[in-house]
Amino acid sequence: MKITAVRTVCLSRLHQPEEQWITAQYRCLKADAAVVVIETDSGLQGFGEACAYGGPTRIAGWVEFLAPELCGADPADPTLAPHPNGRDWAYDTAVAGIDCALWDLRAKIRGCRVVDLLTADPPDRVRLYASSGCRYDWRRRPEQLVEETVASLAAGYTAAKFRIGTDWSWDGVDVDRFLGLVRDVHAAVGGRLELMVDGNCRLTEEQALPIARELDRLGFAWFEEPLPLAQIEAYGRLNAAVAMPISGGETFTTVEQFRPYLERRALDIVQPDVGICGLTEAVRIAQVAARYGVGVAPHSWHNGLMALANGSLVASLAQQPARPLELCLIQGPLQWGLLADPPTITDGYLHFPAGPGLGATLAADVAERFPYLEGHYAVTVQR
Ligand SMILES: [Mg+2]
Repeated sequence: MKITAVRTVCLSRLHQPEEQWITAQYRCLKADAAVVVIETDSGLQGFGEACAYGGPTRIAGWVEFLAPELCGADPADPTLAPHPNGRDWAYDTAVAGIDCALWDLRAKIRGCRVVDLLTADPPDRVRLYASSGCRYDWRRRPEQLVEETVASLAAGYTAAKFRIGTDWSWDGVDVDRFLGLVRDVHAAVGGRLELMVDGNCRLTEEQALPIARELDRLGFAWFEEPLPLAQIEAYGRLNAAVAMPISGGETFTTVEQFRPYLERRALDIVQPDVGICGLTEAVRIAQVAARYGVGVAPHSWHNGLMALANGSLVASLAQQPARPLELCLIQGPLQWGLLADPPTITDGYLHFPAGPGLGATLAADVAERFPYLEGHYAVTVQR
């Protein structure tokens, strides 16, 4: 079997005004997708979703650049996939899409699922966590966070993660006010929903420490990226100060980038994303992390193919406690609408399709339904 073509399908959907979300100083206007498609002379196709934060047109440019060396090669050749370099996000996400498409193709050639290539006797489903907390506004409606988290519980999820809201400097928000809202969320769903907070690298160590202590006291499952990532020593102090894991690394694309965090015990959970670093590198990161006794909870934002690939990684991990897979609640109809055969989600679990491969194909009419819209997905907001 030989590869005959490698291309990228870029897709978008504009959010309705009420669907736009904001976490810091930008407002998200659209959902994007960048899917690498590998064609073969057998008719089999491999699909791999690259994280659209790499920029769909830049990703497509790198895929076009790398395609000639892939065309004519045997897709079963394990040395075929290029490696992420840790320097250029567009390149690395393009490589991630190619890598995931090759895993999909290799599983199809073997007549099995990607998860079967990763581990013996995998589960047929993976537990999800509702990932949102991006639409609450400290000035207008902070209580939206409580309503949304209650809705996630009602929808059957067993875990949920939220962010720290709009920029604190706009509305004089401080640690006490944030923790007041955290306690409101916990009072509404605590004990029935596993909870996590993502700081999106926006807090100081002085702010993060009392928050971490209170989240730990309330039984939160992890505290994600509280500080700017370069502050490795501060991450180490914070991680040592609480029993609850401090997590992070969603933007890292190589195992080298995780090394100082592992060696200094700065993170208790690492969060690679197969759409950002590729499944091959994510497996390597998980293996090295396990050597340090550090767990894995992949970052997984964007669309359904990436969820299936990250879900395959999660299902292959023999870690205790088992950690759920992130599912973006605010991506809109593109998330599953890009697939001809979206998988089943019930009671907060993603059920793996029968396969082969990742078990999903791009819908035939995606380009008509979700035409790519040029430009950045967000605009800067000033107050
Ligand atoms: Mg995060």
